[in-house]
Amino acid sequence: MTEFSQRHAELESALQRVRERIAAAVAAAGREPGSVELLAVTKTFPASDVAALIDLGLREFGENRDQEASAKVAEVAELRPDVPVRWHMVGRLQRNKARSVARWASVVQSVDSVRLAQALAKAVARARSEGQRPDEPMDVQLQVSIDGDPARGGCPLDELDRLADEVARSSDLRLRGLMAVAPLDWAPEKAFAVLQKTHDRLRKDHPELVELSAGMSGDLEVAVAHGSTRVRVGTALLGHRALA
Ligand SMILES: *Cc1c(COP(=O)(O)O)cnc(C)c1O
Repeated sequence: MTEFSQRHAELESALQRVRERIAAAVAAAGREPGSVELLAVTKTFPASDVAALIDLGLREFGENRDQEASAKVAEVAELRPDVPVRWHMVGRLQRNKARSVARWASVVQSVDSVRLAQALAKAVARARSEGQRPDEPMDVQLQVSIDGDPARGGCPLDELDRLADEVARSSDLRLRGLMAVAPLDWAPEKAFAVLQKTHDRLRKDHPELVELSAGMSGDLEVAVAHGSTRVRVGTALLGHRALA
């Protein structure tokens, strides 16, 4: 076996296990089969792994750093030129990276402030006018800070309404949902219960907030029990990441 086909086989069995976990969690929660999508978080892993996952049927990938992602996106486009894939930015985003992210991301899940939303809208408008992205708005999810700790990113609960209004007003952004990471020192049950309540509340004013991006390798079952529509899985799919 070549190195690539060995890795392909490894990823195939990991993908099957992750799909089984998601299906079991969906069934346990009494939810519709197929109601939870999988985002493969490929940060630190090479473009060849993304190519293998494309061959296994995945089309949506998450990255958390602009510089790594923009290079990888270009490489993947060369490896699998005929396959349309959607890239999600899931990491903390600085305003000065908005222009670059607007060139490769279909979705930004980590919008957590009005100032970032404004910078992103401007960057998207510019990329659209320069033909560097399709002439449509950028899908946006608002990252929620469940514990209000500003060090970890995310919008505090009491500022979410204002942020949602701002994104909803923009013709360059399309409000799609919420995203969160369970705080390290919280039980995931408690964290995702808060998130679900917040999602339900915000949807009364913004019914377009259909997506709830929650759950990672270690806590995806709990997130699915609390209404997640997309789990973001890295380790369980690709293995342990080398420390940067
Ligand atoms: C890395 C990362 C993930 C995936 O985490 P795993 O525990 O490896 O599954 C999910 N979401 C975000 C925002 C990440 O940065």
